[in-house]
Amino acid sequence: MEKIKMKTPLVEMDGDEMTRILWRQIKDELILPFVELNTEYYDLGLEQREATKDQITVDAANANKKYGVAVKCATITPNAQRVKEYNLSQMWKSPNGTIRSILDGTVFRAPIMVKGINPVVKNWKQPITIARHAYGDVYRDTEFRVPAPGRATLSYESEDGKTTFSQTVYDFECPGVLQGLYNKDSSIQSFARSCFNYALSTRQSLWFSTKDTISKQYDHTFKDIFAEIYENEYKEQFEALGLEYFYTLIDDAVARVIRSNGGFIWALKNYDGDVMSDMVSTAFGSLAMMTSVLVSPDGNYEYEAAHGTVTRHYYRYLKGEETSTNPVATIFAWSGALRKRGELDGLTDLQDYADKLEASVIEVIESGVMTGDLVGLWEGENPARKVNSGEFLKAIREKLEAKLA
Ligand code: NAP
Ligand code: MG
Repeated sequence: MEKIKMKTPLVEMDGDEMTRILWRQIKDELILPFVELNTEYYDLGLEQREATKDQITVDAANANKKYGVAVKCATITPNAQRVKEYNLSQMWKSPNGTIRSILDGTVFRAPIMVKGINPVVKNWKQPITIARHAYGDVYRDTEFRVPAPGRATLSYESEDGKTTFSQTVYDFECPGVLQGLYNKDSSIQSFARSCFNYALSTRQSLWFSTKDTISKQYDHTFKDIFAEIYENEYKEQFEALGLEYFYTLIDDAVARVIRSNGGFIWALKNYDGDVMSDMVSTAFGSLAMMTSVLVSPDGNYEYEAAHGTVTRHYYRYLKGEETSTNPVATIFAWSGALRKRGELDGLTDLQDYADKLEASVIEVIESGVMTGDLVGLWEGENPARKVNSGEFLKAIREKLEAKLA
């Protein structure tokens, strides 16, 4: 069989622990036999981040900006325990955080649906993609305990000192709590453009919700910025594709999402997105079946799995035990990235390969063959057969070979 050719390199970001092991196996079993893979490789494993003082992460993010598309393996975000375990000179920052700030992007999370694993919400027939604005609000707040009666004020002074506001927040008659939040127009605009671009690129309608009736300046600004950007930059393209941009109050959105059949993107402010993405992913089934893509406002893409490095499985693997770790989200990160590369470079056979790879994965699970994490969720007709990661990948390869023959 002749291998499928690529043009522009795909930026490949390797990672840590069990997902690093799966990364190699996925490439060997499902990609290299079929595609003349052209990647620019960056090893974001913790050892290389330490050796390069984390420069490798910055270089990888800049390569993502240069070429447009990247695929990333899960990586360890060091904490105190990891600093000891890996003898680190510093508690390096989260690679995802670094990449996100360089790309100025928004993260979209979507479940992979298979027949036999049913969402808890029975009318959800299509995936619901959550877009979370990962900047500001309560995650960068200023807060403190108010110790005793006194006046709390909110104030602002312009750089030149000419404009000042000051307003009483509350005259405390007893102890209490106080919190200051902020966000920036530039970040909200990037968030909006990433959402509109992703909706167009995946041909899905976009919903956005805030609490603008109560928060008449803060949340209302989000609503206004989205509306203005939609009118001026995206409305025609949405209408041409028959897509909708729909704004509604968050309470109303929650009710509509639960009653919906899915198949749209739901954009949310930072805190709402944090909470709703956990709710939606749990209701769809398993974290191991959740994909994640970072999209920048100027159209760069970074594909990955939503889960981490699956540490507990890795320690079992190191002891020589077989593990039944689910590679699906990581496979879909590869297929998503290769499909996007194919779209941008006009390579239809690469796009077709990505479609067939995904279809093979889904058919294997639908036939009843799956990793351990899915067995408890299985409601399909065939009895579930639990296999290890290697056997699972082999079963996918067989289907893929048949489809590509
Ligand atoms: P995790 O790696 O997602 O794993 C949590 C648990 O979920 C696992 O122990 C496993 O449960 C289950 N699980 C997750 N993915 C699975 C898969 N593919 N197949 C089967 N089971 C799966 O999260 P964590 O243990 O909190 O974090 C581990 C490391 O990953 C940390 O160092 C963290 O910094 C990093 N992390 C990285 C990213 C990223 O790069 N995007 C995201 C999150 C976390 P059982 O053990 O019960 O089987
Ligand atoms: Mg959360």
